[in-house]
Amino acid sequence: MDLQISRPKHSHSTGLARKCLESLRRRDFVSGAALVDGRWVAGEKRDFVFDPATGEEIATVARCDAADMKIAISAAERSFPAWRELLPAKRGVVLRSWASLMLNHSEELAILVTSEQGKPLAEARQEIAYGAGFLEWFAAEGERAYGETIPSHTLGSLLHVRMQPIGIAAAVTPWNFPVAMITRKAGAALAAGCPIVVKPAPETPLSALAVARLAIEAGVPCGVFQVLVGDPVELSAPLLRDTRIRALSFTGSTRVGRLLLEAAAETVKKVSLELGGHAPFIVFDDVDVDKAVEGAMAAKFATSGQDCLAANRIYVQKGIYSAFVKAFAAKMARLKVGHGLDPATNIGPMTKSSVADKCRMQIDDAVTKGAQVFSIKQDECLGPNFILPSLLSDVTEHMLVAREETFGPVAAVLPFDSEEEVVARANASEMGLAGYVYTDSLRQALRVSEQIECGMLGINTASFTGPPIPFGGWKQSGIGREGSRHGIAEYMELKYVCFGDLAR
Ligand code: NAD
Repeated sequence: MDLQISRPKHSHSTGLARKCLESLRRRDFVSGAALVDGRWVAGEKRDFVFDPATGEEIATVARCDAADMKIAISAAERSFPAWRELLPAKRGVVLRSWASLMLNHSEELAILVTSEQGKPLAEARQEIAYGAGFLEWFAAEGERAYGETIPSHTLGSLLHVRMQPIGIAAAVTPWNFPVAMITRKAGAALAAGCPIVVKPAPETPLSALAVARLAIEAGVPCGVFQVLVGDPVELSAPLLRDTRIRALSFTGSTRVGRLLLEAAAETVKKVSLELGGHAPFIVFDDVDVDKAVEGAMAAKFATSGQDCLAANRIYVQKGIYSAFVKAFAAKMARLKVGHGLDPATNIGPMTKSSVADKCRMQIDDAVTKGAQVFSIKQDECLGPNFILPSLLSDVTEHMLVAREETFGPVAAVLPFDSEEEVVARANASEMGLAGYVYTDSLRQALRVSEQIECGMLGINTASFTGPPIPFGGWKQSGIGREGSRHGIAEYMELKYVCFGDLAR
C-alpha cells in the first residue's frame, strides 16, 4: 500500500483528495469510462466529479446518453439466456470472487468513496465490507430459491411453485452509500439469474465504476452487469420505457421514487423502492441515560447524518429529558468535523449543497419557533458543505425538523409524557422506514414494537443493518425488501405449475 494519508495541514484540505486519487490513477483504479456492452466507453461529453469537502474538481467521467442506454439494454438482453441457465452455484462462484476482489481492494475503494462522497474513511471502509457482504449473502441465497410444493386441493394433482428470474433489471442508486446500494441490488439480481443495468448518482460515479471494473475481473460476463453514468433523466427514460426491463430498484428520495413508480407503471414493471426515512428514536425513562445517548449518537451521526436510518426525531420521556440533553450535548461536543480523508474526522461534509442548505433551513425554522440550539465549535475554516453537529432541544411538531427528513448532523430532541402519546406521535408521519426504542421493560418493548409503523426497529440498539435483514419501509418509505432471503424475490417471478391427471 503506497498511499500516505496524513492529517491535512490546512483546515480546508485543498488538494488532499486529488493527491490520493493521483496515486490510485497510477494503479489504474480511477476510471472515467462507463461500462457498456463489455466495453469501457469514455464518451464524447464529460462530467466533472467534485470533492464535496473542498469543492475541487477531482475527476471527469463519461456522460452517457440515451443511445448508450439502448445499447446496454440490448447487451443485457443478449446476456440473459446464458446467465439464467448457469447453475446457481456457478453464479455464486462469480459473486464470491467479486466480493473478495472488493475486500482485497477495500482501501482503494474506500478512498474513492470518501473523495467523492465525503464520509470519514473509517466509515467508507465499513461500507466496502457491508457492500461485499451482499454479494456473499446472495451467492448463497441463489442456491436457496426453493419454490414450494402445495398440498393439493384437487384429487390426483401436484401443485408446484417455481421461482424464475424475472428478466433484465435496472437500478438507480444514491450517493450516500455509493458502493453498497449497488451491490445490494446487483447481488440479488445476479444471484436470481438476471442481468442488471445500473445508473449511479452523478455525484459518486468513481466508486461505482471501480466496482464495475472488479465485476469484470471477477468474471461477470459481458452485458450481465453494466454501469452508465450521466444525466439521471436522460438515462432513466429509456430504462423506464423499455418493455425488456422487467424490474426496477431505486434508492433515494420519496419525490424521485414517486416519479419512477409512475413512469414504470406504463410498462407494469416490478418496482422496489427504498425511499426516505424519518425515524423516531424513543427513550423511556427507565433506561441508562448514557447507553441511550450512545445509541442516539450512533443513529444520528453515522454517515454524517446522511443516512435513511438516521434518528430524525429523538423522543425522550420527561423524567430523564434534561439529563439526556446534557449528556448528548457533551458527547456531541467531542465530534471532530473535517475532511473525510483526515483520520481524526468523525463528521464529513454534506455530499450535496442542497442537503447542507436544508439543514440550515431546519435549524433556522426551529430556532424561530422556540427551540434551543447548541452547535459544536470548531476554529478551522470549513467549506460551505459542512454542517457543524447541532442539537435542537424543546422541539415541537410544528417545526420542520420534526416533520421532514433532515439527512444531516442535526439532532432534534422532543420531550414526551406517556407511552401512548409517544407511539401516536411517532406514527404521525407518512414515512415508516426505521425506528428505535430504548426501554428496560420487556413488556413495554413488546407492546411498542407491535405498534410502531415501520419496516425496521431496533430495541435498545442502534446497530441492526446487514445482509441478513429485510431492509425496507412501510408507507411512503418504500415498497419491497432488499437483503435477506426476501431480497432475491424482487428479481424473480413465481410460476405455479399444476401437474394433473396423476391418479391411477
Ligand atoms: P434523489 O432521489 O434525487 O437521487 C437518488 C438517485 O435518483 C440518483 O441516482 C439520482 O441521479 C437519481 N435521480 C434524481 N432525479 C431523477 C429523475 N428525475 N429521474 C431518474 N433518476 C433521478 O436524491 P437527492 O436529491 O440526491 O437527495 C435528496 C433527499 O433524498 C435526501 O435529502 C434524502 O432525504 C433522500 N435520500 C435518501 C436516500 C436513501 O438512502 N433512502 C439516499 C439519497 C437521498
